Amino acid sequence: MPQRDIELDLTFLGAMMIRHASRNKIALKEALSNPRFAQVGINLFRDQVDNCIWAIQKGDDGSDYIIRSEVETNPWTTHSDVTAETLTVAFRGVPIYKFAGQDFGFNKGSIGDFKQYIMKKVEEPSFVKSLYAFITNKCPNCGKQPKSIGLNEIRCDCNK
Ligand SMILES: [Zn+2]
Repeated sequence: MPQRDIELDLTFLGAMMIRHASRNKIALKEALSNPRFAQVGINLFRDQVDNCIWAIQKGDDGSDYIIRSEVETNPWTTHSDVTAETLTVAFRGVPIYKFAGQDFGFNKGSIGDFKQYIMKKVEEPSFVKSLYAFITNKCPNCGKQPKSIGLNEIRCDCNK
């Protein structure tokens, strides 16, 4: 599988979110108590969220860790709720933003199209700025409340 570099600048997203999503090493004790990780071999775990394989390794401190060992194809995923009223976009399994159908004009019949659209959008660096603005209601450039936030652009006094 070809390695897919993450070209997006994620600095606009919450620092904690990124720290959590970018982790490639987790204490074994923590993994064992987290339903996200299913043991699939003597020292292998599968991440149920993004399907990556993690392997047990001893850390420098002598404790056991699991280390992400499989190259992922796309760190971005989406999932919808049962009623198809919302679509959540996640980065490495960490939910980033939940789109509501009534705000973005999709319903049960068209959520598949919206999902495809979002999975294309996450490849555009500017989309992360929009995500940041959706989450915080702030302009990523000046920090003030934007006039409007769209999937394609953020309208703000600082960029007219
Ligand atoms: Zn601005």
